[in-house]
Amino acid sequence: MDFKLTEEHIMIRDAARDFAKQELLPGVIERDEKQEFPKELIKKMGELGFLGMMASPEYGGGGMDTISYVLAMEELSKIDASASVMVSVNNSLVCWGLDTFGNEEQKKKYLSKLTTGEKLGAFCLSEPEAGSDATSQRTTAIDKGDHYILNGTKNWITNGSSADYYLVIAQTDKEKKHKGINAFIVEKDFEGFEIGPKEQKLGIRGSDTHSLNFNDVKVPKENRIGEDGFGFKFAMKTLSGGRIGIAAQALGIAAGAYELAKDYSKQRKAFGTEICNHQAIAFKLADMHTQIEAARHLVMKAAWDKDQGENYDLSGAMAKLHASKTAMDVTVEAVQVHGGNGYVKEYHVERLMRDAKITQIYEGTSEIQKIVISRSILKD
Ligand SMILES: Cc1cc2nc3c(=O)[nH]c(=O)nc-3n(C[C@H](O)[C@H](O)[C@H](O)COP(=O)(O)OP(=O)(O)OC[C@H]3O[C@@H](n4cnc5c(N)ncnc54)[C@H](O)[C@@H]3O)c2cc1C
Repeated sequence: MDFKLTEEHIMIRDAARDFAKQELLPGVIERDEKQEFPKELIKKMGELGFLGMMASPEYGGGGMDTISYVLAMEELSKIDASASVMVSVNNSLVCWGLDTFGNEEQKKKYLSKLTTGEKLGAFCLSEPEAGSDATSQRTTAIDKGDHYILNGTKNWITNGSSADYYLVIAQTDKEKKHKGINAFIVEKDFEGFEIGPKEQKLGIRGSDTHSLNFNDVKVPKENRIGEDGFGFKFAMKTLSGGRIGIAAQALGIAAGAYELAKDYSKQRKAFGTEICNHQAIAFKLADMHTQIEAARHLVMKAAWDKDQGENYDLSGAMAKLHASKTAMDVTVEAVQVHGGNGYVKEYHVERLMRDAKITQIYEGTSEIQKIVISRSILKD
């Protein structure tokens, strides 16, 4: 067992840390306030290789391991969780999904542009009636020989209006239930594809979340991913890895809030001494640090499992469950350590607290993670 990062891992972590401090930090408060999508910054992240980190180099990807990816996710999320969710969706849902299950033509045509930031991707599974219960797909994809006709609505789609390529899950054969579901690559300018209004959100307000409508959208057969009926398995496999990215996002939000709280506690004085000298505050920091370290170990273990070719369904679910709870607990305490200053925007912790909540909801709620974990531990 080796808990040490390699030199390459440290280089990637430091590059993400520098980028977050130099590029994401200025303007992060304004973007949150205005719900502004950081288009130029996403482009820069693409140029620096943060958008296709794990994808194969022959399609423009970084060919890196999952540990590198979670290290970058943690650093970006310490500063700007809106930017990091875009990185997460593009890397672990869209690029990984296409790299692992797409065919040669799909990889050449789509993946090679998604890895470089030339194009941005979105992953479209959720619907008004299909969130946790993803098998209840109402969006239909009717087989018309050389193409499919898509009809329906997707909800809560990250990168909803900013993406160029959308991976869309839809029901082809209702009789076959989840085995009759397919996954498709839909281009933004396909006729009949319509972007709904932007959601007004509590947190990750810089990321654009939209509903999407499909009105008789003609999708060529060559845009189906995998064999007929592979769509549900595609979505579940992809989300299982995606959860590791969201766990790293939660870890980053927690670590970012903790670092701010620790620094603040060493400067702010009350009753003649720095507040970190009051045991109530010092113990809060001790609890935060311990919870974060536990989350970091779970996240790293899940990433390591994936890199070793081990099953990561259980470790990924545990990492997400624990890291997202840590993000909530730690950000609430970070606001408390800041007192009144914690309640205003300039000190960043109130934003991190709002951002933390989503990590318990998307890519499988905490309740769904407990279903995954309990099924796994009870099966033998
Ligand atoms: C900001 C944001 C971004 C998102 N981005 C995307 C995206 O890019 N692509 C995408 O496809 N989706 C996306 N989602 C959707 C997200 O994945 C779903 O909201 C989530 O899976 C929960 O589904 P739901 O909202 O329908 O809640 P529901 O499924 O209705 O759940 C409501 C509550 O019931 C609980 N519950 C449901 N079933 C059970 C059960 N069997 N046992 C115990 N409790 C249960 C849930 O845990 C939850 O607490 C996003 C959501 C948000 C808010």
